[in-house]
Amino acid sequence: MSRFQVRKVAVLGAGVMGAQIAAHLVNVKVPVVLFDLPAKEGPKNGIVSKAVEGLKKLKPSPLGVAEDAALIQQANYEEHSELLEDCDLIIEAIAERMDWKLDLYKKIAPFVAPHAIVASNTSGLSITKLSEALPEEIKPRFCGIHFFNPPRYMYLVELIPTPTTRPEILDQLETFVTTSVGKGVVRAKDTPNFIANRVGIAGMLATIKEAENFGLTYDVVDDLTGKKMGRASSGTFRTADVVGLDTMAHVIKTLQDNLKDDPFFPSYATPPVLAKLIEQGALGQKSGAGFYKKVGKDILRLDPAKGEYVPAGAKGDELVARILKKAPAERLKLLRESSNPQAQFLWAILRDSFHYVAVHLEAIADCARDVDFAMRWGFGMSQGPFELWQSAGWKQVAEWVKADIDAGKALSKAPLPDWVFDGREGVHTPEGSWSPSQKKYIPRSNLAVYQRQHFPEAVLGSGAVEPLKAGTEVFKNDEIRVWTLDGEVLIASITAKLHLISPTVTEGLLKAVDLAEQGYKGLVIWSPDDVFSAGANLEALMPVFMAKGSKGIIPEEKKLQDAMLRIRYAQVPVVSAIRGIALGGGCELAIHSARRVAAMESYVGLVEVGVGLIPGAGGLTYIARRAAEMAAAGNANADLLKFATDGFTSAAMAKVGTSAIESRKLGYLLDSDVIVPNKDELLYVALSQAKAMFDAGYRPPHKAMFPVAGRSAKATIMAQLANMRDGGFISQHDFHISTLIADVICGGEVEAGSLVNEDYLMALERQHFCGLLDHPKTQERIMGMLQTGKPVRN
Ligand code: NAD
Repeated sequence: MSRFQVRKVAVLGAGVMGAQIAAHLVNVKVPVVLFDLPAKEGPKNGIVSKAVEGLKKLKPSPLGVAEDAALIQQANYEEHSELLEDCDLIIEAIAERMDWKLDLYKKIAPFVAPHAIVASNTSGLSITKLSEALPEEIKPRFCGIHFFNPPRYMYLVELIPTPTTRPEILDQLETFVTTSVGKGVVRAKDTPNFIANRVGIAGMLATIKEAENFGLTYDVVDDLTGKKMGRASSGTFRTADVVGLDTMAHVIKTLQDNLKDDPFFPSYATPPVLAKLIEQGALGQKSGAGFYKKVGKDILRLDPAKGEYVPAGAKGDELVARILKKAPAERLKLLRESSNPQAQFLWAILRDSFHYVAVHLEAIADCARDVDFAMRWGFGMSQGPFELWQSAGWKQVAEWVKADIDAGKALSKAPLPDWVFDGREGVHTPEGSWSPSQKKYIPRSNLAVYQRQHFPEAVLGSGAVEPLKAGTEVFKNDEIRVWTLDGEVLIASITAKLHLISPTVTEGLLKAVDLAEQGYKGLVIWSPDDVFSAGANLEALMPVFMAKGSKGIIPEEKKLQDAMLRIRYAQVPVVSAIRGIALGGGCELAIHSARRVAAMESYVGLVEVGVGLIPGAGGLTYIARRAAEMAAAGNANADLLKFATDGFTSAAMAKVGTSAIESRKLGYLLDSDVIVPNKDELLYVALSQAKAMFDAGYRPPHKAMFPVAGRSAKATIMAQLANMRDGGFISQHDFHISTLIADVICGGEVEAGSLVNEDYLMALERQHFCGLLDHPKTQERIMGMLQTGKPVRN
């Protein structure tokens, strides 16, 4: 396959999806031009400009940092169509109307480069029908590219070929979308609503219907069908409100219009309550009311019988919650046999989903794996329907579903397909996943791009190796596993809860550094889940504190600081592979590494202030040193105060980057660090980085002295702090902690420009950290956090 280079992408349509897709392309450093119709009044780019402005305010933020909105090039079809000529990929995301889309294709066709891929983000229109209007030379380069809302955060992208799409076009697009855009690709057949929305919306319709049958209220249904069931925490009705009831109705209409022969057709009828809400303009979150309504701080739910909103918040029965915690086989058996209406309801919706996917698998997907991944990645399920069925005992569940169909309890009389009963134990095997259309098990894609994923997400039953059991184990204790995949680079995986750094973890990390120096090219700190480390384990230090008071903590603190320095000055590169949160001690571990490789969704920051402490494992020392390095790089010593103040503000306000990009703006990632769009490529990139650094003759940094901003800078910062305290913006205790932070960052009571080293600053850190431990307000904050997990403001 020749390399498909995407130098620039055009996104057509600056609506909800188009604007956010453009934003995400900017996040992953792909140049993008965003088009919309010329505005009728004012500047011609008015529609696009407004959309780009809107991106800065949207929550959750589609952009890694809001100011990057400026990187989106703005255009309209009247003035700028020739900009399309430079685009290697054109993503159409205009309003969902076949005639409008076809018109637009005609308009842009003369400007499409001869090699460019053109793809539509339609959620419901036939990709094949759309392609038919295209000039012959574009048809082979046309397909569907279905992003999910919000595109930055939803992992799923469905790619849909037409009969005329050239296969290598899809391979090229899959490669780009996986590595550069960071998404999980599922290939779908060109059927109405493709895979995820087809199965997901049918599931929501079934849930609405069964909830009515069993007389359950929306809040109870959401409680049961959210986290407790291993699904998105917003459950069913709140998810509908978030998606928008009009959007949902649109997807339902696609089912109604195109699936008249579907044996489930009657269950696609628009639920009367949905129709009524839409008629009243209650479209969900965006219009302030839907199945729920927020009034002040209260969440109300619709009572459809009364037609009014009543207080919400009811939970499912404890008994049912307990059943949901059981292993799959027992869980399904108990739900089915229970006389509790909530349990019966849950069995009913699971049965409906098994029934639905078994009947439709052949038509909508190449194999069962695609359905399970689509539901995980597009609907936030921890397990797809086939996986759950298989893990609960394929044959038994098949019999139960059949019995319900025969008894007329199911949503359709359609029998389960014969393959369900051919003696199989499931649809996922180590050989591959079942494809009814090809009548065989299909292995995973062997596209080269997947070789960058050492541990790709795998479906249950596929026999995938668990990362923490993979490779060769070199060392292990209760909270860390040190291992290698290739014999060249060591990997340290913290296994403690939230990967909190306890003395046991520190000990393991030190051992890992020793081992790496003895026989490996480097050490990568990586874990297979989406937490790098939530910080130092305060609870683990409690016994020492109780026995010896804060003085007892000083040696512990020193050990942790020494470990950070050991990592920084290791003879081989230590690379932190960050994904998810890296807070407090986790951030300090990352910043002392030789390099950081961070997934786009990384949230890094020094948050110790929240528990009444200062960063005490070298975090402030790092800020002081970086300020000196940046001032030196700019050859302007006068800037030391500015850099020190920036670092101070991040730590004193416990700022956490809301993306890897923002974490870099805060100074916790460097320009030389690598941001990886796809979470599953993180380990590959980190290992490559460690090897490349070693092969380039890695040497640790010099242990140099550096200048600090001194007491005058501290006085400047404190004057501002005093204003904030007197204005009531920060508490007296915040003021006290911030003063101590400023003291370390500025180097204590020394003249501006005095040279210090890391040991000196770390001693200051220790002194203030341990002093704070004796402060009652800090103790109140720590106890509050340990007991409730929430920060105490005092
Ligand atoms: P939207 O209504 O927010 O935006 C549509 C954009 O198309 C607008 O900016 C509008 O100016 C432009 N437009 C309207 N008529 C046009 C025309 N005749 N020619 C050119 N441009 C025109 O829509 P959206 O929700 O962003 O959806 C866009 C596409 O993405 C649709 O195909 C939709 O099915 C699909 N989609 C939407 C979602 C979602 O959750 N909203 C999710 C996945 C896919």
